[in-house]
Amino acid sequence: MKDDNCIFCKIANGEIPSKTIYEDDMFRAILDLGPAAKGHALLLPKDHYADLFALPDETAAAAIVTAKKIAAGMKEKLGADGFNLVQNNGEVAGQTVFHFHLHMIPRYQTDGQKIGWVPGKPSQEELEETRAQICD
Ligand code: 5GP
Ligand code: ZN
Repeated sequence: MKDDNCIFCKIANGEIPSKTIYEDDMFRAILDLGPAAKGHALLLPKDHYADLFALPDETAAAAIVTAKKIAAGMKEKLGADGFNLVQNNGEVAGQTVFHFHLHMIPRYQTDGQKIGWVPGKPSQEELEETRAQICD
């Protein structure tokens, strides 16, 4: 299942060239054109799924296992000190390309990047209200 209007479908299937660091039957991993740090790569399924919620469970499971393998290799080869896996779903969450992708970001002591959020300070009551909304 490809989407003719999707640039990541074209990249994942080799119709548009990319700096590929890994490929198998299910995925291609490419270097991001706007890296947060050296080696920042994107793991793309070859089939089109808009986001995490559209992704079949087997593909989701394989994505983590594959990213783990690639990340371990990159950490060693690039001498990274840490690693972020980031995955955005929806415009409000920062997704800009609507073909599922997993960001694989090697981190270095000196990279000067911040990947994070401003922590809130909810009361125990607010946390309980949220827990109940999710679970009850
Ligand atoms: P998102 O914000 O959707 O989670 O991430 C999209 C990512 O794709 C961004 O980090 C952006 O730099 C990267 N990107 C967008 N278009 C291209 C492209 O054509 N080639 C590559 N290699 N990366 C791209
Ligand atoms: Zn696509």
